[in-house]
Amino acid sequence: MVGLSQVAELTEGMTDPEHSSEPAFDISDEYRPEPAAPVRPPAWYDGSVRIGIHTSIAGDIVESLEIARKLGCNALQIFSWSPRMWPRAGSIRIPEADAARFRERRGQLGLGPLVIHDNYLINLASPEPVLRVRSIQAFRDELVRAVALGADFLVAHPGAGRGGTIEQAIQETVRGLRQAARGIKLDGLRILIENTSGMGTSLGSRLEEIAAILEAAPELPLGACLDTAHMFEAGYDIRSEAGLERTLEIIERTVGLRRVFVLHVNDSKTPLGSRVDRHAHIGKGKIGLEAFRRILNHPLLASSGSYGLHGRAFILETPIDAPGDDRRNVRTLWKLVGRSAQQAPRAEDGFSMLRAGKTGSRRRPASRNPTAKRLRSSRAKKSKPKRRGPREHRER
Ligand SMILES: [Zn+2]
Ligand SMILES: [Zn+2]
Repeated sequence: MVGLSQVAELTEGMTDPEHSSEPAFDISDEYRPEPAAPVRPPAWYDGSVRIGIHTSIAGDIVESLEIARKLGCNALQIFSWSPRMWPRAGSIRIPEADAARFRERRGQLGLGPLVIHDNYLINLASPEPVLRVRSIQAFRDELVRAVALGADFLVAHPGAGRGGTIEQAIQETVRGLRQAARGIKLDGLRILIENTSGMGTSLGSRLEEIAAILEAAPELPLGACLDTAHMFEAGYDIRSEAGLERTLEIIERTVGLRRVFVLHVNDSKTPLGSRVDRHAHIGKGKIGLEAFRRILNHPLLASSGSYGLHGRAFILETPIDAPGDDRRNVRTLWKLVGRSAQQAPRAEDGFSMLRAGKTGSRRRPASRNPTAKRLRSSRAKKSKPKRRGPREHRER
């Protein structure tokens, strides 16, 4: 035991000028473990409105970021590989050098969130064993690529049961998601299940089905991506104010608005409840401009505020029939949220993913992506301009 007097002696000694050569105790010398660096949210995650479009990865994946910038976006969606082809041999990875360039450039441009859409051929609900195994492997590759690129969200179609019951299809999809994600460190990546128009036997046209998938795998970071065209085509009448309110109630009751991280903003060429998926330009389809004004400005669908969801994004998947359609649709969304051309991110005059009559002959950097190269050469054979953005989804 050390008595109080001894403590006094000791401390006295420490401050005694005669003992000044002895190291004095200083509280700042005390060893303290380094506090863990606070996880800083990325610059884009600032509560501002996030608007993006699906951009092409043909040529060089980093180019998709420049396209988003030139179109006046502050968010974007891409495919991380060809959306309609199975990998030729085994799994397909993005070389780390390319992924690093991509992550760095994205940081510089402040684009976010980055949404990746999965391959259209993937069907995790397939009852057919070969297709099922292929789908799980391909979805696993999607996850690995999305993590490598530093993506925030991977959008997946829920699959099609092809004749089985809906419950079976839901179970198979969830089992597939689990198997695909097993052992992968997802690093903040969230998988968003997209609602569908209900073509064929595809799952997910009812929001209850999306909710059932989310609920069945609470251990996975899941959420929902709601596509306005698919909603409308599946029978949710979001055209009118009352219809939107009713639909929002259904969303809240099923998937929950807090789990809707991305909205695909597309008008529909087909009428309410058609179950046929054909995307149209914003304001040029059956949903109409005023409906989109309500959707984009609804406090429950906002990307900030006490009713909104921080960082939520509106992503276009509209057709590009003529050069400039992509830029015009992005501009329309900014206008709908009340941003003038000066207030919105600057678009490059005249830029489009589709060049008039020049598609296929345009010089692009040498491809490191054999699939993109193949896509380009098949495109070059056709004289007609071909859109380079996503087409309407053809569901299985
Ligand atoms: Zn989709
Ligand atoms: Zn969509």
